[in-house]
Amino acid sequence: MSIAEHVETVLENIRQAALQAGRRPEEITLCAATKTQTGQTIRQAIAAGIRVCGENRVQELAAHLEEGAYAGAQVHFIGHLQTNKVKQVVGRVDLIHSVDSERLLRAIQAQAEKLQICQDILLEVNLAGEESKGGVSIGSLPALAELTRKFSHVRLRGLMAIPPISQNQGDNRQYFSKLHQLYVDITEKILDNQSEMDCLSMGMSGDYADAIAEGATLVRVGTALFGPRPPMRAFS
Ligand SMILES: *Cc1c(COP(=O)(O)O)cnc(C)c1O
Repeated sequence: MSIAEHVETVLENIRQAALQAGRRPEEITLCAATKTQTGQTIRQAIAAGIRVCGENRVQELAAHLEEGAYAGAQVHFIGHLQTNKVKQVVGRVDLIHSVDSERLLRAIQAQAEKLQICQDILLEVNLAGEESKGGVSIGSLPALAELTRKFSHVRLRGLMAIPPISQNQGDNRQYFSKLHQLYVDITEKILDNQSEMDCLSMGMSGDYADAIAEGATLVRVGTALFGPRPPMRAFS
């Protein structure tokens, strides 16, 4: 199947999952996870209807920006972001999904202030307490959300999570449900509903329908659009 056919299939699956959950399909954004893909593949995906691209690596983001690969789409940063690389990301992407520490949050605020812009962000939550993964712990989430209120140049738009790798269909629903509950709690209790929270980023190729059933507003899909990933390209 071509990329265009994959895009059509995934968009139709999203539509069906939304309708089954009693939700409007327009509430859900498909973000194409473009790690390891070439600029040409990204352009094909955008021509096929992709409106948001999600990048994992700063080097790939820079290369694709330089060649104008994202024309016609938004760009999000969805990978782990090191504090020393915020300059290459802040102001260049529409949304950063992976803010998971006070240090990173402060660095983003400082860079956004320098550029005189407001950077939209999500807080990434480590739902299962996995040591190997990024994401703020559930216990530290409220304080980090609270801190965003003090920062004039960042705008908290929602939450993101990558649940543990699952063995069986449906395994991750409990995590999606948990993230949704945290999202509601943060919106109501920490931000007093005075916020622009509108993004719940969860669900990937294997489980985006479950994520939509549990309230996802943005799903990040790679393999189901592009097929198995080519190996990471080396950057010097
Ligand atoms: C690669 C990636 C995805 C997409 O994963 P697939 O299983 O290929 O759909 C989603 N989110 C993040 C953060 C990723 O790195």
